[in-house]
Amino acid sequence: MSYQALYRKYRPQNFKYIVGQPVLVQTLKNAVITGHISHAYLFSGPRGTGKTTTARVFAKAINCHFHHNGEPCNQCETCQGINQGTLSDYIEIDAASNNGVDEIRNIRSQIKYAPLVSDYKIYVIDEVHMLSLGAFNALLKTLEEPPSYAVFILATTNPQKIPATIISRLQKYDFHRIQESDIVYQLSSILKKEKIKFDPTALQLIARLSNGGMRDALSILDQAVTLNKDEISFDLVSDLTGTTKKELLFNYLIAVSKSDVKSAISEINQILVEGKDLGQFIQDLILLIKDILLFQNKIEPSTFLISDLKEFKNLSEAWLFKALTVLIDEDQRLRQVVYTDILVEIMTVKLAHLNQNISRKKEMSQVEKNLVNKESLTNIHEGEKKSNQSISQNISEDFKPIKHAIEPINTNNNAKEKVKVDNISDFTNPTMLNQVLGQATRRDLDKMVNRWDQIIQNAPQQLRALIKYTHPIAASNDGVIIAFQIKQFLDKIESDLDLQNSLKKLISENKVYGIFADEWPEYRKNYLLQRQRLSVKSNDTNLSKSTSAFTSEQLSGITENMEAIIKFLGPENVKIIDD
Ligand SMILES: [Zn+2]
Repeated sequence: MSYQALYRKYRPQNFKYIVGQPVLVQTLKNAVITGHISHAYLFSGPRGTGKTTTARVFAKAINCHFHHNGEPCNQCETCQGINQGTLSDYIEIDAASNNGVDEIRNIRSQIKYAPLVSDYKIYVIDEVHMLSLGAFNALLKTLEEPPSYAVFILATTNPQKIPATIISRLQKYDFHRIQESDIVYQLSSILKKEKIKFDPTALQLIARLSNGGMRDALSILDQAVTLNKDEISFDLVSDLTGTTKKELLFNYLIAVSKSDVKSAISEINQILVEGKDLGQFIQDLILLIKDILLFQNKIEPSTFLISDLKEFKNLSEAWLFKALTVLIDEDQRLRQVVYTDILVEIMTVKLAHLNQNISRKKEMSQVEKNLVNKESLTNIHEGEKKSNQSISQNISEDFKPIKHAIEPINTNNNAKEKVKVDNISDFTNPTMLNQVLGQATRRDLDKMVNRWDQIIQNAPQQLRALIKYTHPIAASNDGVIIAFQIKQFLDKIESDLDLQNSLKKLISENKVYGIFADEWPEYRKNYLLQRQRLSVKSNDTNLSKSTSAFTSEQLSGITENMEAIIKFLGPENVKIIDD
């Protein structure tokens, strides 16, 4: 016997096998039981969530004289006719390929004739939003005065495209994305019936990739079974779908957590050699870190096995949160750049140096407590420059592949000289930053944010490369503070007055200053504390006005407790394991 696709073989023939739509299924069964059948239904929802399958089961049930508690018998003439596609009173139309007025006119001419075998003549129109306007008008006429025996079931992934005049005549049913756990359960029961071995993480991976659609999940599983009938492994599915192999993902995370840039880069090269997508790689990393955080907090992980995650039990939560922030930022940025491999290499350096950033930040906040004292401010400023230089040197030593990308910044001796000599650069001077902050308003910031993409586009080539990963975080009527995602790029501009002037010209503001994005939340906190202290003294009534000028607290503000994790991941994604 030839191979039958799992999707067809295991297509539910009864309501009870329809996965993930319990409320809707119960409502339809009740309609069958009570005999309250409407003339027109709308089944809307994402692809592969069971709309046409449900339509078919419903069509059987309302025509079946032997239905039991609303379930069709699947034995009688009409049930079998619908199952085999031979019942002339049951008509399925795919509007995606039949968007013409003719098809609907055909329905109108045929609908006059009473059903031959069954009680109801049923029309299922799939992807109904694809009908032309003319076809919709023809359909509307039919829906306005349907014969007593006619039932229309319209299915769509895009209900917004259906005219309101049609919608108002339909009984609406919304199909939801199917939960990953439901998909995993369904896949595993199919594989058990097929007597095929499987790795549970492979099924979890399929469930995640199918985005709540059972049809997509079964189609991935079908392909996997075609490749290997003996066992469905994680790596088989990852090969098939372009996701990152587990081992590679784990090795990479271990390498960056140990600040081992070389090993991490060699894992990335492996990904590139295999032709995999780097965006997918970042998303896989995000999922891995999410699962590690869940595991560390005794919550059931969603994609990886607990036995896999044990390897990471010693990673600190603070580090994982920092890494997550970097990855989420890079994930967004990756969609906008052409040289994705360079971006991922820079990301690797960032991740590998997170440990240093965390410890350096502690020193910083300690010193910043003296923010009011101007003399100590100048000292921090100098000290910070030194520590940044040493980090930059580390990077260029153990990170050859992106040397070209950061070479002009600090490996060049002149630039170093300039940093030392050039005390007049105010680019990151807290006193100047605070001046802008003192007059900052939300309105000015919004204006600047709206201009920002254009500003980056208009920048001369060298400057554009340096400000590409920046965004304004505070603005006054004559100044702006820019947050830099990449510290080396901030240093480069700070050490070069020409670049600063070019930036000022570009933005057409006189006061243009920069700060490393990772340091901003802490800086902002200290600034506000300082303002509060001052306002107690001077009874400054403008305080609330100026505080409203800031963007909302970012991920780094999340505290290291469970509540924060649950809030971050969304309560619907969290399941507490009983210990
Ligand atoms: Zn039947």
